[in-house]
Amino acid sequence: MSHGFVRRESVETEMHRSGEKEKTLVYTKKRGYDVTRNPLLNKGMAFSMEERLQLGIHGLLPPCFISQDIQLLRVLKNYDMRKDDLDRYVFLMGLQDCNEKLFYRLITSDVERFMPIIYTPTVGLACQQYGLIFRKPRGLFITIHDQGHIASILQNWPEKDIKAVCVTDGERILGLGDLGCHGMGIPVGKLALYTACGGMPPQQCLPVMLDVGTDNEALLNDPLYIGLRHKRVRGPAYDALLDEFMKAISDRYGMDCLIQFEDFANINAFRLLSKYRNKYCTFNDDIQGTAAVAVAGLLAALRITKTKLCNHTILFQGAGEAAMGIAELITMAMEKEGLSKEESLKKIWMVDSKGLIVKGRDHLTHEKERFAHEHSQMKKLEDAVKELKPTAIIGVAAVAGAFSEQIIRDMASLNERPIIFALSNPTSKAECTAEQCYSFTEGRGIFASGSPFDPVTLPDGRTLYPGQGNNSYIFPGVGLGVTGCALKHITEAIFLTAAEALALLVTEKDLAEGRLYPPLSSIRDVSVKLAVKIMEYAYEHNLATLHPEPVDKEAYIRSISYNTDYDEFAVESYRWPEDCMAMQSCKL
Ligand code: NAD
Repeated sequence: MSHGFVRRESVETEMHRSGEKEKTLVYTKKRGYDVTRNPLLNKGMAFSMEERLQLGIHGLLPPCFISQDIQLLRVLKNYDMRKDDLDRYVFLMGLQDCNEKLFYRLITSDVERFMPIIYTPTVGLACQQYGLIFRKPRGLFITIHDQGHIASILQNWPEKDIKAVCVTDGERILGLGDLGCHGMGIPVGKLALYTACGGMPPQQCLPVMLDVGTDNEALLNDPLYIGLRHKRVRGPAYDALLDEFMKAISDRYGMDCLIQFEDFANINAFRLLSKYRNKYCTFNDDIQGTAAVAVAGLLAALRITKTKLCNHTILFQGAGEAAMGIAELITMAMEKEGLSKEESLKKIWMVDSKGLIVKGRDHLTHEKERFAHEHSQMKKLEDAVKELKPTAIIGVAAVAGAFSEQIIRDMASLNERPIIFALSNPTSKAECTAEQCYSFTEGRGIFASGSPFDPVTLPDGRTLYPGQGNNSYIFPGVGLGVTGCALKHITEAIFLTAAEALALLVTEKDLAEGRLYPPLSSIRDVSVKLAVKIMEYAYEHNLATLHPEPVDKEAYIRSISYNTDYDEFAVESYRWPEDCMAMQSCKL
């Protein structure tokens, strides 16, 4: 990208160097309230006197001049006064609606603290209460009745340079089921993480709700529900809407516009992924993002066990989107180690709600068939562990406590360093706690979870820090890399590249302390490093369409990243009255 001009709120923005620091000068035709009430432009009392006069907002603000640092202090103090997490979520969304730079300055000041509020687990609560907490619409709402008109709806969106779209139909929101139009909290939250964790400018991100109705009776009868009040439309009409949507997005924003699918039900998630993956720039985070973060955890675990992935036998509890995605990527990693596809599939076993998945069993979908092996039927996970002697167990069935003491002890007697991943969310659904894993394995278990767990101190005095396999280690970096070099399709290899890069960012010290992921506080750097690896892979394999290839990819990625410092508004050939200039001196 040129360092000369960037698009900003449909306004040409000129970047120029001033001394040491790079400043952004923004030109806007907006004046008065259109400036102070626009979250992209608003900087509250941080507007200088020159800007207030030039932009016609003098008198619309209190006379004091306040820096962003002081504003941050104010929002933090206000934040601390909120009584619960949902209240904190509402407060943060209000800030995002009012002053976007300040919102991201706050989030990036302590990602570990704010991520559980703007994303899981609080966003789940927010989606359940979306009708109640709804203040201002954010993102695009496209319904099944808009068929034939999606292109014109996209024209209503004020930004023209969209690089990442996150879309849901609200049918399987987290572990909460069908929340219909209230699922909009998910794309909104995910895209906020694109900016906070990956540095993608927020104006390049578009959250979309495809409202086809809901089968949630409680919502259909709720007077505060904000979506269509009828049952879900399925079949050809649904498919036609999705087809039109994908085409309309790519026509308007380009074939390299990333479209992330989020929280679609199983029946649609796999089908839509295979339908669109080779046609558009798209991925499904529940399947592929989860896969990459889990495989990164496994690859980091291998640095502890000093083994190859193909030496392992992996047993899944659950055979849904997460399990299938992870299993698929594991086989790819094993193939890279030299194993055949057939042999690598044999290393993976799955237990679903009907028991062990074996050849000839009932209720086998096309996806499950691939992991069905010749074996007698078994109902219980405990029996499968004893029989198959896995080296790793991965829980993704949202069955709380599924890794019983017996199972964990069996894993510990079968393996010197058993790998035990309890990935189900939220915390209440975890297969076991970190403490249970460490204590039943005498501290030998290599543990990762979907939700955060506190560090555990063992009787021998060692403290272990459980790894949290949070998808936000992956998707912002993937988004940054994919859009950074204008990929047109996202292959599985991109996710394996991301997983490998993430595993290598874990230090020896982290591993010694039980951590399988880098600290969440370093997420911005992690995303940049992942993006660089993805770009290197893309250029090496002739997948990138951005030319010429940036020589220093890290510098390039950083140069297109969002900066939470306020822009300065250009003040052209204007003579300021002396008294106005004098007021500048009371700046804090
Ligand atoms: P899903 O609905 O697609 O799959 C759930 C699977 O669990 C299904 O195959 C179902 O048959 C199986 N199951 C249900 N009851 C069972 C039982 N009693 N015994 C064995 N299997 C049973 O859901 P998903 O998207 O795969 O997510 C599953 C879990 O993984 C959720 O809790 C989710 O929060 C978690 N997850 C974690 C991460 C992460 O940690 N990064 C990412 C994605 C999903």
